[in-house]
Amino acid sequence: MSVMPKKKSTFDRYTWIVTELVIGIAALGYGLFGIIKTPTSTNYTYIVLVCTGSILLLMAIIQIIIMRKKKVNIFCSKCGEKIKKADDFCPKCGEKIG
Ligand SMILES: [Zn+2]
Repeated sequence: MSVMPKKKSTFDRYTWIVTELVIGIAALGYGLFGIIKTPTSTNYTYIVLVCTGSILLLMAIIQIIIMRKKKVNIFCSKCGEKIKKADDFCPKCGEKIG
């Protein structure tokens, strides 16, 4: 029995976001194109495509925002050491943060 690594790699997350963006844009574009092309008849396939595409795009955007928030780093003003948000003092030189 092999043990799967618990930590998700950044590559997997990026691949997932890109997949969501591509499928989302494709579904949204195709759905909107279909609705514009046939405005008189209600085609639920296109409406479903637009909804699915919007949700996928929204999910991808939310994931990007979460990833960007997590990536924000604070650096010590004195020595330039990377500091975790929880730290009050620089672990390298002891400079107070904030
Ligand atoms: Zn420092």
